[in-house]
Order: sequence, then structure tokens, then C-alpha cells
Amino acid sequence: MSAALDIDWKALYATFEAPITRYDCGKQCAPLSDSGDPFCCTTEHTIPVVFYEEWQYLSAKTELWHIYAPEDKTRRDLAESAGDGLLALECLGWEQCERDYRSLACRTFPFYPYVSREGEFLGLSYYWAYEDRCWVISHLELITDDYLQQFVAVYDQLFAAVSSELEDYRRYSATARRVFSRWKRSIPLLHRDGATYAINPTTAALTPTDAVDFGRHGPYLLEFETFEK
Ligand code: SF4
Ligand code: SF4
Repeated sequence: MSAALDIDWKALYATFEAPITRYDCGKQCAPLSDSGDPFCCTTEHTIPVVFYEEWQYLSAKTELWHIYAPEDKTRRDLAESAGDGLLALECLGWEQCERDYRSLACRTFPFYPYVSREGEFLGLSYYWAYEDRCWVISHLELITDDYLQQFVAVYDQLFAAVSSELEDYRRYSATARRVFSRWKRSIPLLHRDGATYAINPTTAALTPTDAVDFGRHGPYLLEFETFEK
């Protein structure tokens, strides 16, 4: 059992409020999902995982969240693989979302902190499994500077507070390099310095690039630039 986390969740959330883009991304992706929900707001597509202490904070403040009850073995295995000190949750749905009580998982999606081979937290990349659904992943050029800087500041705090997290993401970033290497594609990196880089998945070298060069995916390949605000 890991030691209790010494994090002020109210203060942490207050420093991570910036919208990902100036558009409401839920309005862009929801029309494409069978249920009409934004893909990251239904456990059909992604299950939010939170720290136990984060759950304690949220459950004391709001009725929005409950512990996720998997309907089948696959989902139960997924929920149980969350890891030590973590819990899988489910919210009441996007129509009842309470912005102040969105979990850290809600605020960070679709991004994870990319950590170099040497263990340096360089910036953001995205969970590649959602390329075919998440509108944000197809519009990296629209990510706001405020969002990037707030994401980085929050993970700087988390990595200082939770010693195992940096190593977990270093391993996850290595997995990203293996996957993108198989695909013969560069990994997009929104660097903490504000620039965008293409990571060579074989050498891990960074090359400056434009976010728009990472292109679009899935249903967004055919999209016109008329975003609903
Ligand atoms: S982050 Fe991606 S999946 Fe979630 S609401 Fe925005 S576009 Fe949709
Ligand atoms: S709390 Fe809000 S942002 Fe988070 S999954 Fe639920 S509806 Fe989506």
C-alpha cells in the first residue's frame, strides 16, 4: 500500500482550468459517437482513473462520481488493473458535469506526460488509441498555451508528490516509442517550452515541427473548418 498523497486537490484543480482549445471540443466529437456523448465522458470509451485521495476529495464535495461497476469481465479486469492507490470511477454523464469537480483524468484527456529515456518530463503527447475518436488529437495546432503550461505545472507537482509516477510515465513513453516505431511515424510532442516537436521513435531525437503537420485522423480527415463554438 502506498503512502497517502499530500495534495490539496481543490488548489490543484484551481490551477488547471484552462480549456484545451478555444472551441468546445465535446461539441465536435459527440455527434460522432453512438450515444451522442463526448467520447471521453462515457465509460463505453474510457474509464477515468483517479488517486484514492482524489476520490476522497470528490466524494466529499459532489454526488457527480461513483466507483465504476464493470458490467463484464473485460471491463472488470481493466478497472482492476488501475494500480496501487488508484480507483476507476464513473460520472453521472456529461449533461450533469460539474466543471469544478472534473477529475484530473478528465482535465488531462487525451494527453499524458511524455517522459524521456533519461527521465525528464518534456511535455505532452496523446493516448494514441483515441486517434479515431478524439477531435483534439486531430487539432493539435489549436491547443492553448495556457492549457499546455497548466498541464505541465500540475504534473511537475504530481511528480514531486508521487515518486513512482515519473517512472510509470517513462515506461509508458517507451511503449509509445515502440508503437509509433511499428507504425513508422513520429510521436507528436507539445514541449513544455511551448514549441512542437516530432519525436523519432527509434532514436528518441526531437525535431522542431508545426503541430498542424501531424495531420488528422479517422472521421476528422474529411472535416471542414467550421467548428461549433
Ligand atoms: S477531449 Fe477529445 S474525446 Fe474528449 S470531448 Fe474533447 S474531443 Fe471529445
Ligand atoms: S466529469 Fe465531466 S468531463 Fe469528466 S467524464 Fe464526466 S462529463 Fe466528462
